[in-house]
Amino acid sequence: MSQKKIKNLIVGTNNRGKLKEIKSLLPKSINIYSTSDFKLNSPKEDGKTFKENSLIKSRYFSLKSNLICLADDSGLEVDLLNKRPGIFSARWGGRKGDFNKAIKRVYKELNKVDKNWKSKKIKARFICALSISNLNKIIACVQGKVEGHISSVPKGENGFGYDPIFIPFGKSKTFGEMKPSQKYKMDHRFNAFKKIKKFL
Ligand code: IMP
Repeated sequence: MSQKKIKNLIVGTNNRGKLKEIKSLLPKSINIYSTSDFKLNSPKEDGKTFKENSLIKSRYFSLKSNLICLADDSGLEVDLLNKRPGIFSARWGGRKGDFNKAIKRVYKELNKVDKNWKSKKIKARFICALSISNLNKIIACVQGKVEGHISSVPKGENGFGYDPIFIPFGKSKTFGEMKPSQKYKMDHRFNAFKKIKKFL
């Protein structure tokens, strides 16, 4: 089935870190709009999975802007915390989205479960669900991930969110210590993007 090429697209996120990364992945031939061009707030994310929340966002921003929308929902799963914070990753930063607060909460929860966690490899992964909606119609919805472990101290000034405490599998640096170009080529959003790019 041949898919019409998308000319105009709104990226459905109010998170500047994500907007920057998603923009860098999109083909240069697409006119990209952001939620700030339409002064749009984010919808309530009351889905139970990353995919459901991604669809809530892509449908909402598409209906508000009248453009096709690409939206993501992402987060960090820590195995020792029963996959928390998961879909609550942004909410662990509180109302102001304070990433230091979110990181402190991860450490606090790990300490509660195992006082010796720092001497162990704490398995974790970033998950990203990406979806494309055209008004109420779902064009695509996919999921990507990157496996790794939690650093016992936050390291690096780059990126956003939990980047300073996530070390991807096979590397010794956190995402926060890597150049954005290095992180973007291996992360959960890139892996989801590989699956969705044929719809763009
Ligand atoms: P939401 O998808 O906007 O609900 O929020 C996802 C949250 O997960 C972000 O606010 C970050 O805390 C975290 N997150 C998602 N992707 C990344 C990433 O690439 N690096 C670091 N943190 C991330």
